Amino acid sequence: MHRLYEYGDIAVFWDSEKCRHQKKCVTGSPQTFDFGRRPWIDLTKAPTAEIWKTVNKCPTGALTCVYTHNVKIETDMDNCRSVAFSVSETGVEEQIGECDFKRSKEGWIIYHTEVSPEFSEKGIAKRLVYKLAEAAEREGADIIPTCSYAKKVLSCAEDGE
Ligand code: SF4
Repeated sequence: MHRLYEYGDIAVFWDSEKCRHQKKCVTGSPQTFDFGRRPWIDLTKAPTAEIWKTVNKCPTGALTCVYTHNVKIETDMDNCRSVAFSVSETGVEEQIGECDFKRSKEGWIIYHTEVSPEFSEKGIAKRLVYKLAEAAEREGADIIPTCSYAKKVLSCAEDGE
């Protein structure tokens, strides 16, 4: 299971396959991480610095995080994609990336991920892939990544991007 949590200037990824329940997260920020709550991660409950420090102590890499850099991620199911928008201080939105999939009887085939070069190395591509993975899982669909980047994020996910 892949989940993306976003609030303010931070985005947190959680990969349940890697979660070994050593509960360092719960100890580090009990208001944020609570296995008895749904959703179990609530980024509104503690300062970003506390959450960031706690995520970086996750011993298995199940939790990772990036700053959002004023970029929001949305799903666009009509066009089978997730989309990244850079939001200016005046609220103007500009599309700067997307991740595309097509439906098949085997599942959602994620075949393309792209982010504008000036926004690279900010974790935006990973947010795009996680957004789709979460949507697929919530729909009960299997995820079939054919895009090399999505494959890397969803299978080995040791990348920071
Ligand atoms: S610290 Fe990491 S591995 Fe341990 S319970 Fe929390 S998310 Fe899972």
